[in-house]
Amino acid sequence: MKERLQQLQQDALSALQQAEDLKALQDVRVEILGKKGSLTEVMKGMRDLSAEERPVVGSLVNTLKKEFEESFAARQLALQQQDIAAKLASEKIDVTLPGRQTATGSLHPVTLVSDEVVDIFNRLGFAVAQGPEIEQDFYNFEALNIPKDHPARDMQDTFYIGDERVLRTHTSPVQIRTMLEQQPPVRIIAPGTVYRRDSDLTHSPMFHQIEGFLVDEQVTFADLKGTLVHFLNEFFGSGHKIRFRPSFFPFTEPSAEVDIECVICNGEGCRVCGKTGWLEILGCGMIDPEVFASVNYDAEKFNGFAFGMGLERLAMLKYGVNDLRLFFENDLRFLKQF
Ligand SMILES: [Zn+2]
Repeated sequence: MKERLQQLQQDALSALQQAEDLKALQDVRVEILGKKGSLTEVMKGMRDLSAEERPVVGSLVNTLKKEFEESFAARQLALQQQDIAAKLASEKIDVTLPGRQTATGSLHPVTLVSDEVVDIFNRLGFAVAQGPEIEQDFYNFEALNIPKDHPARDMQDTFYIGDERVLRTHTSPVQIRTMLEQQPPVRIIAPGTVYRRDSDLTHSPMFHQIEGFLVDEQVTFADLKGTLVHFLNEFFGSGHKIRFRPSFFPFTEPSAEVDIECVICNGEGCRVCGKTGWLEILGCGMIDPEVFASVNYDAEKFNGFAFGMGLERLAMLKYGVNDLRLFFENDLRFLKQF
């Protein structure tokens, strides 16, 4: 019996040492001390022992049980600590590693130029207005003195959506929408996307214009000229010659186109200005009384001027970009430069 107990003790302690996790450790405990455990079996067998043997064996069993419990507790603690250490190791964060770079975007060159133009006119008291890109024929043409049979409609290759709706061909409908809602004096600057059926090296079916207009009493062509000269000096830097050439637009009378001395070659003549030394920048004029009639403004009392220009062209000149298509290809190598 004594030998059997010693063997049992040896087996139990080595099983404890071999248990590799907490579950295996519990299983060992059940094998020894459970209802059908080997030590429990020994204790049951004590009934059959003689009165002399019983206390001796009983004491041995108690010692064994105590040693087993102590070893079990020690092994349990060791395994728990091992678990914690493993968890800590797997969740370790090296705070000295360099962080992941987040890519930052930049504003599109056309947006930058639009913001700059708006800013210059804001300082002159012009407020920003916007209108829909899908526009009714009335706002895009009719009210701007371009009736259906007017040859000026041929000047603009229009995308029609049905008979009465178009993708706006210019930002000028914003003038009509504003004037129908507000009484003079009005001072508006209106940047926006416009569409024309035109696509080649220098034309895109979608592009951006910025439109400005002012209506008040006693507005003269000199006010228009002073405003635009101020704008061009702010935008391109002062010192460039500026000239006004007579032109035609259905919604202004008289009308003019404005050229600035080439900002690339300073008037010497280069590829960008077509050797002329001049760059066409914008169209403008005094608002036609016919336009005032369609928005119920008193043309005897009020007059005003309007002007419009292409934002891509301004961006090309400002940043020295020589291909219009670069603005629409979304090539990050290009866009990141601004
Ligand atoms: Zn030039």
